[in-house]
Amino acid sequence: MELDTIAAISTPLGEGAIAIVRLSGDQAISIANKIFNGADLTTVDSHTINYGKIIDPDTEQMVEEVMVSIMRGPRTFTREDVIEINCHGGLASVNRLLELVLQLGARLAEPGEFTKRAFLNGRIDLSQAEAVMDLIRAKTDKAMGVALKQLDGKLSKFIHRLRANLIESVAHVEVNIDYPEYDDVEEMTQGIMLEKIEEVSQEIARLLAMAKQGKILREGISTAIIGRPNVGKSSLMNALVHENKAIVTDVPGTTRDVIEEYVNVRGVPLRLVDTAGIRDTDDIVEKIGVERSRQVLKEADLILLVLNNNEPLSEQDLQLFDLVKDLECIVLINKTDLPNKVDKEQVESLAKDFPIITTSLIEEEGLDQLEEAIAKTFFTGNIESDDLSYVSNVRHIQLLKQSLHSLADARGAIEAGMPMDLVQIDVTRTWQLLGEIIGDTVQDSLIDQLFSQFCLGK
Ligand code: GDP
Ligand code: ZN
Repeated sequence: MELDTIAAISTPLGEGAIAIVRLSGDQAISIANKIFNGADLTTVDSHTINYGKIIDPDTEQMVEEVMVSIMRGPRTFTREDVIEINCHGGLASVNRLLELVLQLGARLAEPGEFTKRAFLNGRIDLSQAEAVMDLIRAKTDKAMGVALKQLDGKLSKFIHRLRANLIESVAHVEVNIDYPEYDDVEEMTQGIMLEKIEEVSQEIARLLAMAKQGKILREGISTAIIGRPNVGKSSLMNALVHENKAIVTDVPGTTRDVIEEYVNVRGVPLRLVDTAGIRDTDDIVEKIGVERSRQVLKEADLILLVLNNNEPLSEQDLQLFDLVKDLECIVLINKTDLPNKVDKEQVESLAKDFPIITTSLIEEEGLDQLEEAIAKTFFTGNIESDDLSYVSNVRHIQLLKQSLHSLADARGAIEAGMPMDLVQIDVTRTWQLLGEIIGDTVQDSLIDQLFSQFCLGK
């Protein structure tokens, strides 16, 4: 494959102490060598770091003192020749440096293009490339761990195994069709095929069950705090942010127009969504209308419904209960330091299966129980002890669901007594769908779209 040489600033822009301009491609070394005053980069050993100066070839002025790392392909991330020019930062000089390499023939990399090259050059498969993206965005250690496992290829291996399993049964069917008289070949009875379909379906279902947890780890549980005015919503928000170190996200290129705050509750990242809105709009139902609030709530993974222990339930409380009835919700009865006036039995009957936590936010009581309830809601199984890499990617989840669907079709076909070569169509389709997860059967446009989600310079 003939690919041009790409370049980008691969460290976050700003006042960082060190900035790196990275190049990858056939021309990487010769381009760097043209502006580097130091050892001859075309002859130095691979995987060495070389001190020198960057000279502007036009003006012969020194631009920067630098350390240049040289890595010859294929033992590099992209499998191409890679140059990393480390300089002391300062936006102006880094930009000048990038300009120089672009003038000399490198092309500015598109977002994610370095990782895309690693994929195109066969170093990593698609699910691993996506893991790189997840790593960049990981909000907690657990999320980081999931991405690392995926990068390690755990998911890939799992998918490979499922596909091998399917292709084997398809091959059996082929043989039976082609050589119906050939005695040594075990008859691919419907029973055996059914068994195989069942086995693979169960494995996929298991992956999907963990997908929910994976998504949560990666993106955070989007959480809405609701309740009528003065029940303690802002106090709850402050307590959660105060108790649990907020996670600062500082990823260049991520959108900042959505107002959200991250807190880490026992390893569970909560994304308190649009907190400013919730803070200012004390009465979510009244101010934005029932329809709008239903919409806000629908997008939340978790609702914290706050009630006042010191007042009887009001019409508004009942409305809120109605709004959350099909959602994931935890009910808080706050202000337990004040005399009890709320009817607890009524709350219990309204809350149905939702956990009910009593708190006094002013006396800092009940937060532990709340955090335990949150952790329990989202990590039903023992997430750490399971060695399988969790699926955390929306695209993977969709493909797994489709795979499960086409396996169900295959099962239906068998049960309806269809001929095996028809059953085989569904099985083959499952095999293809699974292949899309690791990039075996993906079209170019999808690949472009995926990699453009990466940060620049990765
Ligand atoms: P919001 O309107 O729902 O956001 O409620 P706030 O968090 O602004 O709290 C309203 C008032 O209730 C404030 O004066 C808080 O100090 C007070 N408050 C919050 N939690 C408690 C509590 O547990 N006990 C008592 N006694 N007062 C509380
Ligand atoms: Zn408030």
